[in-house]
Amino acid sequence: NYSLKQLQQVDAAHHLHPFTDHKELREAGSRIITRAEGPYIFDSEGNEILDAMAGLWCVNVGYGREELARAAYHQMKELPYYNSFFKCSTPTPVLLAKRLAELAPPSVNQVFFGSSGSEANDTALRLVRHFWALEGKPQKNRIISRKNAYHGSTVAGTSLGGMEPMHQQLGGAVPNIVHVMMPYAYELALPGESDHEFGLRAAKAVEDAILEAGPENVAAFIGEPIMGAGGVKIPPMSYWPEIERICRKYDVLLMLDEVITGYGRTGEWFAAQSFGITPDTITTAKALTSGYQPLSALLVGDRIATTLTEKGGEFYHGYTYSGHPVACAVALANLDIIEKEGLVERVKNDTGPYFAQALRERIADHPLVGEVRSFGLMGAIEIVRDKATKERFEGDGRAAVVVRDHAIANGLMLRATGDTMILSPPLIWTRETIDLACERIGKALDLAHKDLFA
Ligand code: PMP
Repeated sequence: NYSLKQLQQVDAAHHLHPFTDHKELREAGSRIITRAEGPYIFDSEGNEILDAMAGLWCVNVGYGREELARAAYHQMKELPYYNSFFKCSTPTPVLLAKRLAELAPPSVNQVFFGSSGSEANDTALRLVRHFWALEGKPQKNRIISRKNAYHGSTVAGTSLGGMEPMHQQLGGAVPNIVHVMMPYAYELALPGESDHEFGLRAAKAVEDAILEAGPENVAAFIGEPIMGAGGVKIPPMSYWPEIERICRKYDVLLMLDEVITGYGRTGEWFAAQSFGITPDTITTAKALTSGYQPLSALLVGDRIATTLTEKGGEFYHGYTYSGHPVACAVALANLDIIEKEGLVERVKNDTGPYFAQALRERIADHPLVGEVRSFGLMGAIEIVRDKATKERFEGDGRAAVVVRDHAIANGLMLRATGDTMILSPPLIWTRETIDLACERIGKALDLAHKDLFA
């Protein structure tokens, strides 16, 4: 029931940070989150809301962790900042880099730090193009990505991403980036096509793009193992191994964006391990500190690192806050928590399978639901007018917004993107939290059904 004007006001309140107080923001439709604890957030009206979105912001160990606050406090007192280049470093980024090399696939051993996922993808783009130039192939600079992908909001991030509305505001994308179909079986599989076959066909779109450009002109393919902001698009298991085979065949680098999937969400430390592939770069960010500090880590494979070292001289890269000591101290403490509490194993063996079963048994049969899907603790619910025909409601995502608003009003924060509800809860969720979330989703779906068919 929102008018465009109301939505624009909400958006303005969110993004422009006008000089205003809580009351004005509230009146414009913004919710003011004032504090948070464990899996819950609390707003200025005193509502307690279970945060099924924390994991998209990647507060994976939950809110209010003393250990992380203490790590930041001690590091700030000891050494709040010194730069990590010009022949200098500080201890925490070095310790963190070592730790990340141990967690990443065996051939991934080097790290560039930054503050955000967008910065890390920007660096990754420059890095792979620089790599091919060092290899004597400067023309090998084309990057293949996917439609509707999200890789950040800088010019490079937006260009790598495939979101149309963002491209329309770019005023000129970074050249030589092309976008192919996403592995979204629910909408794109052909009648009678198996999941396996669809995965191979979606991978073939990458091969076609390589052949069209000529492999001698293609630097890399970039993708999120599971598209997050783009609607939790979970590829069939045939997809990634086939992409890897194609990349190796044509000597195209494989870049993974694990800003959402990294550090446990899929039941492994990296989704690369869940899908059994070995990338040349892995972009990671917010989950590295559970969002308690801005920090990103671009993990770099040995092939690129060796060329850089042997032929490279210097890669002119570095942000003021690269390897920020406080952010790295918090990341180390965050990895300690994930390890000590066994959160990665818990997602793989307990909460991940339970989440999948709960969505299947308690949500999938609802008349508004076209499909549920999940992998680890990442899930999606497709909202449809007609289950059998997959017909959507009019208004491009309007129905999902109705479901979302009922969910929030009933104490569950989740997100609608297009006609898809996405869930990405913190890794601390238990079976009980999943039960509670399903109860609230069910209620929201019932109320939305009444509204939408009123
Ligand atoms: N890549 C992916 C997959 C993301 O989800 C995001 C953030 N939502 C980014 C990149 C950009 O990260 P940041 O917002 O930290 O710049």
